[in-house]
Amino acid sequence: MNRTAQTGQQRALWPTSLLGSLWPILAVVAASALVLVLATLSQPYFYVVFTADVYLPVHYFLETASFVVGFSIFAVYWHASREMRDAQGIFIGTAFFAVAAIDVMHALSFPGMPEFVTPSSVDKGILYWLSFRLWLAFSLLVAAFVDPRSRNPLLRRGPLLGLNVAVTTVVFVVVSFFPDRIPPMFVAGHGLSPLKIGLEYLVVALAVAAALVYLRAYLSTGNQFFKVLTMGLIVTVFSELSFTLYAAAYDTYNLLGHVYEVISYYFIFSALFGSAVRRPYMELQSAFSALDVKNRELKKLNDMIENQLERTIAELRETAQISNRRVAQLDGIIDSLTEGVVIADVTGRIMRCNPAAAALHGFKSPDEMGSRVEELASLPISFPDGRPVTIEEQPISKAIRGERFVHHELVSWGADGVKRCLVFSGCPIKDESGQIVLGLTVSRDVTEERELDRLKDEFFSIASHELRTPLTSIKGFAQLLARRLARESGREEDLRSLEVINHQADSMQELIEELLDVTRIQSGRFELSKNPFDLARLASEVVEKLQITSDKHSLRLKADASLWVNADRHRIEEVFTNLISNAIKYSPEGGPVDIVARRSNGEALVSCRDYGAGIPKEKQPFIFQRFYRAASGPCAVGLGLGLYITRGIIEGHRGRIWFESPPRGAEDNPEKGSIFYFCLPIFPVEAW
Ligand code: ADP
Repeated sequence: MNRTAQTGQQRALWPTSLLGSLWPILAVVAASALVLVLATLSQPYFYVVFTADVYLPVHYFLETASFVVGFSIFAVYWHASREMRDAQGIFIGTAFFAVAAIDVMHALSFPGMPEFVTPSSVDKGILYWLSFRLWLAFSLLVAAFVDPRSRNPLLRRGPLLGLNVAVTTVVFVVVSFFPDRIPPMFVAGHGLSPLKIGLEYLVVALAVAAALVYLRAYLSTGNQFFKVLTMGLIVTVFSELSFTLYAAAYDTYNLLGHVYEVISYYFIFSALFGSAVRRPYMELQSAFSALDVKNRELKKLNDMIENQLERTIAELRETAQISNRRVAQLDGIIDSLTEGVVIADVTGRIMRCNPAAAALHGFKSPDEMGSRVEELASLPISFPDGRPVTIEEQPISKAIRGERFVHHELVSWGADGVKRCLVFSGCPIKDESGQIVLGLTVSRDVTEERELDRLKDEFFSIASHELRTPLTSIKGFAQLLARRLARESGREEDLRSLEVINHQADSMQELIEELLDVTRIQSGRFELSKNPFDLARLASEVVEKLQITSDKHSLRLKADASLWVNADRHRIEEVFTNLISNAIKYSPEGGPVDIVARRSNGEALVSCRDYGAGIPKEKQPFIFQRFYRAASGPCAVGLGLGLYITRGIIEGHRGRIWFESPPRGAEDNPEKGSIFYFCLPIFPVEAW
C-alpha cells in the first residue's frame, strides 16, 4: 500500500489539520511523563516491592495481554498481506512474531515462574525482555525506511517470517543454553547492572529515533498510521525508562514498565490494525459514500434526462401534429388541383396521385392507380403522332431518372374515354446530399387550347389563301400602272406611291407566306423541293445580301470549301436569312456575327453566333414555339414565327436545330450573346 500516495484519501478519512491533530501525541508524551515523574517523586512514600503471589499473576496477565496483541498484529498482517501489498506493514507485522514469541519466553522465564527449558531467573527474564524490546524498537526504526510499495522479494511475508523465526531461535538458544557467556543484568542486593541500563537506553534511543521518523512522516503526509505508531513508540520509550529504574523484579517500576508496554502495544496494534483492517473498511465506506453521492447525482441526471426526454417527446409530438396538419393541407391542395400530379419514389412505387391525374390518365379513381410505375404501361396514352408511349418514355419514369422537362405533349384517353391532349412537366426531387429520392410530374389538359390552335390555323390557312388572290391583283395592277406611268412620263409622286404599294404588297405577301408555312408545318403538308447544292456558297450569298442591311454589324463567314447537301435551296436560304437576321436584330449595339459552315461527323454543321443580349434562361424552352417572342424593347419587331418555321424546315430535311445562350465557354462574358446551330446530312457529291 502506498501510504504517501494515499495522503489525499487519508486526509479525507482523518482530521485534516495536522498541527491541530498533534495534541494526542503531546497528550501521550505529557501523560506518560507525568506518571513516571509522579512515580519517581512519590517513591519515598509509595515504592512497593510486591510479593510473588501478587506480582506474578499480574505480570503474567500483562505479558499475556502483550504477546496476544503481538501475535494478533502478526496474524492480521500475515493473512492480509496478499491483498494489502504493503511491504512496510508486513515488515512490522512479521517482526511482531519474534517480539511476541520472545515475550512468551520472557513471561515463562520470569523469576518465580516454573522452569522453562532451563531454570527461570531474573537475568533470564531480563535477557528475553531486552531481546524482544531491542528487536521491536530496531524493527520499527528499520520499517520507517521500507517503501510500502516495494516489490523486493526479501520483503515478502515468507522471507520476513523466516528472519523472525531465526531471531527467535537464536535468542532462545543463546539465552536458554549459554547464559554464562552473557554478562549479568541484575545483581541481587545491587539492582540493575550498567549493561542492562545501557541496553534499556539503547532501546529508548531506537524508539525515540523511530518515533521521530514516524512523526516526520505523519507531519509530511498526515497519515494517521504514522501518528498512532509515533504514540506507541513514545509509550515504549517511557516503558523502557521505567525498566532502567527498578531495583527489584517485583517492584513498582517494573509494574509501571509493563503497564506502559501494554499501552504502547495497544497504540501499535491500533495503528497497524487501523492500517490493515479498519482503513480498508473505512475506504470502502468512503467509497460507498462517494458511490452514494454519485448515485444521487446519477439519479438527478436521470431525472433531468427523463424530463428533457419528456419535453423533447412533447415537442416532437407537436411537430408531428404540425407536420401532419401541413401534409393534410398539402394533400388537400394537391387533391383540389385541376392539374394532374403524380409522385413516385426511385424504386418506381407511386406515392401520390391526385384525382385530376387519375381522371386525365385513365383511372377511375386514385385508389385504382397501380402502385408501381410499370403498371402505367397499360395506360391508354400515346405521342401526338399516335405512337404508343413505352414505360421508359412515361413522364414519371423520366422524372425518376433525373430528367427535367416542360411542355412534353402526349395524347391520353382519360377515365371517361375522351381523347385529351396533355402537356407534362416533370422533375426529380433530391435530398440534401443531392440524391434523387422522388420523381414528380404535373400534367395539364390542353385539349381546348389545341382545338383553338387548330381553329386558328384553319382560319389562318383560309384567310391567307383568301388574301393571296386580291394581293396578287393589287400587286399586278400596281406594277401595270407603274409601267404605264413610266411610259407616259407621269408624275414622280404617283410613281413613288405605286412603288410603296408594290413594296407593302411584297411585305404582306411574305407575311401571308409565313402564315401559310405555319399552317403547312402544323398540318404536316410542308413540301420541299430538294436538289443538291453547295451550302457554303449559299451561305456566302446570303451573308453578302444581308451585310448591306446593317453597317453596324460585320458578318464574318468561315466555310469549308465545298459543303454539298441535298435540300430545298430556297428554304435553306430562308433558314440562313432568318438566323442571321435574328443575330443582327437581337444585337442592336452592333458588332460581329460569326457564321461557320463546316463538315462534322458526316454532316454539314452551320453555326451563327452573335454577341448581343442573349436569351433569358426561363424563356429558352419556348423560343421555337410559334408566335412566341422572348424579346421586348426596340428590337421587338416580328411575329415570333421565324424560328418555328426554321425548325420546321430543318426537321423537314431530317436535320437538327438547337442553340446555346450563352454559348458554351462564354458564361463569364458580359457580351455573351447566343449561338444557333443546325445540321443537315451531307450529300456525297463524288457519287453523284
Ligand atoms: P421574331 O424574331 O419574329 O420575334 P423568331 O421566331 O425568329 O421570332 O424568334 C423568337 C424569339 O426568339 C424572338 O422573339 C427573340 O426573343 C428570340 N431570339 C431569336 N434569335 C435570337 C438571338 N439571336 N438573340 C436573342 N434572342 C433571339
